[in-house]
Amino acid sequence: MNILYIIAMQAEAQPFIDHYGVQEVKDFFAPLPCKLYQTSIKGANGETSTLSVVLNGQQHGSDLVGCEAASMATLAAIERLHPDLVINSGTCGGFQSRGADIAKVYIGNACMFHDRRVPGDDQWGTQALGNYPVWEGAEALAGQLHLPMGKVTTGSSLDMQPCDLKIIQENGGELKDMEGAAVAFVCSLMATPILFVKSVTDLCDSGAETFEEFSRNLAKASQALKETNIRVIDHLTNAV
Ligand code: SAH
Repeated sequence: MNILYIIAMQAEAQPFIDHYGVQEVKDFFAPLPCKLYQTSIKGANGETSTLSVVLNGQQHGSDLVGCEAASMATLAAIERLHPDLVINSGTCGGFQSRGADIAKVYIGNACMFHDRRVPGDDQWGTQALGNYPVWEGAEALAGQLHLPMGKVTTGSSLDMQPCDLKIIQENGGELKDMEGAAVAFVCSLMATPILFVKSVTDLCDSGAETFEEFSRNLAKASQALKETNIRVIDHLTNAV
């Protein structure tokens, strides 16, 4: 199996990179800033899988987060690496009113955008919201690994305006991030299945300042993310 991870931040990916000893393939995406790390994994059935981890890269000295960078990295990576499955993994905000907790790791069961307010007919409303399909095996995987599922909701900001919250509530969004639906958008165009693995860094309804809570919990959430991703990869590759 050819597995492609799309991850926004180095801090989110580093525990995972260290665990697998994936090697950076320098300048693979030049002149784009995306970074590729790759290794192969042996399965119990003798089959060898390829694990590629792509980071969006940096600009102006910080990791590129958000939809534009995620779309760019996903398209470039799918065109060059031809994955069987794309996994968008990273951190997100959760809602304690919906059972979220810091460092709880979810599998996405759907995705949407919450900050694209485009009035008009239904076609536009549908396009603005996204609602792209997720990999058909996601639910079975979550069940087998005993992982909770939730709907990824994506926007271009870390904060949450009242109009964002309204759309999130109306459409059942649970895992608030800045890349998920953008990655799924490209996957839908490229007919490539997508799986979300998301770890909670902050609680959008806790009253805490989001960036402070995010920063405080980033290392813990990324560690939990690594542990779950190892289980996901073992499962997918039938690793020995
Ligand atoms: N520039 C800062 C902030 C990163 S933005 C830094 O370098 O530390 C936060 C990242 O974590 C995004 O990639 C986003 O997908 C995810 N994220 C975590 N909590 C979020 C929330 N409450 N809302 C939106 N995105 C969140």
